Amino acid sequence: MGVPLLDLKRQYEYLKPEMDEAVLKVLEHGRFILGPEVRQLEQQLAELCAVRHGVGVASGTDALLLALRAAGVQPGDEVITTDFSFFATAGVVARMGARPVFVDIEPDSYNIDPALIEKAVTPKTRAVIPVHLFGQVADMDPITEICRRHSVAVIEDAAQAIGAGYKGRPAGSIADYGCFSFYPSKNLGAGGDGGLIVTDSDDNAELLQILRVHGARPKYFHRIVGYNSRLATVQAAILLVKLRYLRQWSEKRIQHAGIYDDAFKDNSAITRPVVKDYTTFHIYNQYTIAVENRDEVIGKLREAGIGYEIYYPVPFHKQECFAYLGYRPEEFPNSNRAAETVLSLPIYPELTSEEQGLVIETVTSATA
Ligand SMILES: *Cc1c(COP(=O)(O)O)cnc(C)c1O
Repeated sequence: MGVPLLDLKRQYEYLKPEMDEAVLKVLEHGRFILGPEVRQLEQQLAELCAVRHGVGVASGTDALLLALRAAGVQPGDEVITTDFSFFATAGVVARMGARPVFVDIEPDSYNIDPALIEKAVTPKTRAVIPVHLFGQVADMDPITEICRRHSVAVIEDAAQAIGAGYKGRPAGSIADYGCFSFYPSKNLGAGGDGGLIVTDSDDNAELLQILRVHGARPKYFHRIVGYNSRLATVQAAILLVKLRYLRQWSEKRIQHAGIYDDAFKDNSAITRPVVKDYTTFHIYNQYTIAVENRDEVIGKLREAGIGYEIYYPVPFHKQECFAYLGYRPEEFPNSNRAAETVLSLPIYPELTSEEQGLVIETVTSATA
């Protein structure tokens, strides 16, 4: 049979009429860059996050980059973030000429450990980027408390957590900036690259709007040197269609997670994802287990034709491009352990119960 890690073709099968109509409409009106659908998407995502503004940009990576710029991060500044995330989270800091400062994660949630942030703050710290990994929001209250005390900006990397909740508050709405990605494998995925920043501040929103169009306002009058980072209208049109399904898709993912949890609960060889007590909605962009005999499990998954992925095999402090930062592996016991044991399994909404059954059977037989 075989089970893909993600199958977007299945989604298109039932979205086709709405999706085709939305795309054709853009082809007809021809306002391809920052057109009316972009504005609509910005409003709807601001509403979803219960904040005043959304600013569409070219990717999730750019969302982070522009938020760092808007937060006033300068070359030589320090930006604290997790040691365990997708590369973009740390890459944007280095691209600003700032110094990434990595801190270890909590062993159960895989999110940044707030207790370690305080120790990493120096007079040069300008911002902190917590990541809501796999669809669960990081422990934001202690993070925002520390940052407020030190006058440091907080930028949520909510690329994997659109629609997730922390103590009833939407992911992305808790800090100064919330950054989303519409990369196709995210829970709300476009037909290409796209990203968006939400913020409750009028000033921040205006700055972000200027930064995405080369720093100009009005056109051809450049207040600052910005970027070419605009969201394509056709992507916004696709996203507006999919946004109507986001809630039910998240619920499907939660349902699948429950079935995995149940099947694995008596298996001491499998560490299941932990839902923290402050989490009001874990949207499971990934269902990530941890196993000691990962190679063996992967071998069995391959044999059965089941898709899987290791998010992430190399923590930031071990990346070649960050060798200049001079970190030692002993400083990051939890991210190193995670990198050696994590394994993400298929959890997309359209996953059938037969398919999930095969995944469960295969993982169980490899961990017996
Ligand atoms: C996907 C992702 C990004 C980057 O988003 P792109 O749209 O691919 O540029 C940033 N951070 C995290 C945690 C991500 O998962």
